[in-house]
Amino acid sequence: MSIENLKPETLALHGGTYRSDSATGAVAVPIYQTTSYQFRDTDHADKLFSLDEDGHIYTRVSNPTQDAFEQRLAALEGGAAALAVASGQTASAYSILNLAGAGDNVVSATDLYGGTWALFAATLKHFGVEVRFVDPSDPENFRRATDERTKAYYAESLPNPKLNVFPIREVADIGRELGVPLIVDNTAAPLIIRPLEHGAAAVVYSATKYIGGHGTSIGGAIVDGGNFPWEEHAERFPTLNQPDPSYHGKVWVEAAKPLGPVAYVLRARTVLLRDVGAAISPFNAFQLIQGLETLPLRIRQHNENAVKVAEYLQGHPKVSKVIFPRYATGEEKRRAEAYLKPGSYGALLGFELKGGREAGRGFINALQLFYHVANIGDARSLAIHPSTTTHSQLSEEDQLATGVTPGYVRLSIGIEDADDLIRDLSQALEQA
Ligand SMILES: *Cc1c(COP(=O)(O)O)cnc(C)c1O
Repeated sequence: MSIENLKPETLALHGGTYRSDSATGAVAVPIYQTTSYQFRDTDHADKLFSLDEDGHIYTRVSNPTQDAFEQRLAALEGGAAALAVASGQTASAYSILNLAGAGDNVVSATDLYGGTWALFAATLKHFGVEVRFVDPSDPENFRRATDERTKAYYAESLPNPKLNVFPIREVADIGRELGVPLIVDNTAAPLIIRPLEHGAAAVVYSATKYIGGHGTSIGGAIVDGGNFPWEEHAERFPTLNQPDPSYHGKVWVEAAKPLGPVAYVLRARTVLLRDVGAAISPFNAFQLIQGLETLPLRIRQHNENAVKVAEYLQGHPKVSKVIFPRYATGEEKRRAEAYLKPGSYGALLGFELKGGREAGRGFINALQLFYHVANIGDARSLAIHPSTTTHSQLSEEDQLATGVTPGYVRLSIGIEDADDLIRDLSQALEQA
């Protein structure tokens, strides 16, 4: 049997080299709740520190539970390797800091998760990294914003609230022409959008969302596509191509060679996790493995339910508009068809209440099954009214620019019974 062409349902349970615990035979990945690992002797310690032998030294940098999660996720995503970190925010921050320093810039789509927006617009600026925001509806905007200090392009595959699928191939191609890697936050669309297959160089996740699914654990990950020619652009990427004085002069593209095309994620681990240290706990890595194992099954149910809910809302007299990739038109429809797995649209949807802000409040307060939370991607269904919560600090004008109107409601559809969800929406709409 070829292990190569396994389907996502199989990879979610078998991806990576973990089969059973080498010490005990345990089938479930054990929680290795340890900080440190005993060296066999001084020679062994030497080899581990110089990266001449693979193994664990200290859990801030690597851990066997984390390793099993990383391998499983990399296999599922079709990447060369992955790095698990403390949160989705850490994943996006490290994905940039791994390439860019003071004086450098990154070109990012404007449609971003609020936390990423704050990181890019304010915190990275304090580090001297400029983020140039461009409208992703025209991919050429990325080219126009690029110069010799541009280290990466960044975008979300399925950003909310607009839910316009990002033109991954178009922007990745521009980047490959100019020597700039595209990093895609695929948090909202695991398995249904495959950024690496469309030319992205790396994928970041908030594993807190669909990957965990249970809503118990914060975590994040960076998946290295292993497909970007860092060495061909040695001048643009000194962090990977120049001797690293913090690691006995190692050149990361060289150091990675025995391991595969994994220089990007190798440096994020050995330098950023070592020095900045936002490591995932072994317990959370274990929790995220539990989530990953049923991810393909849950995604299918999320999708099915979302389609039913969208259809119900489309016909409701109090709803003026439903925002869901299935209902995209024009160029947006073409992109949705090009990048979404056929028949899948994700489980995020937005809708517009004719009654505006007051109707939005009335609707949210009347919900009984849907949770009123800022989160997405939980197995439970979730709802939020952005203009009175996540977007309330913005001016009305800025809210509109982000796609949030006073009557806009966002739903993250869970895996409950769709008819039960529709009954809850129906009674809440009566009170909107
Ligand atoms: C939640 C989220 C993040 C941040 O992830 P945390 O795990 O909460 O740090 C980043 N991007 C997107 C699209 C998200 O939904």
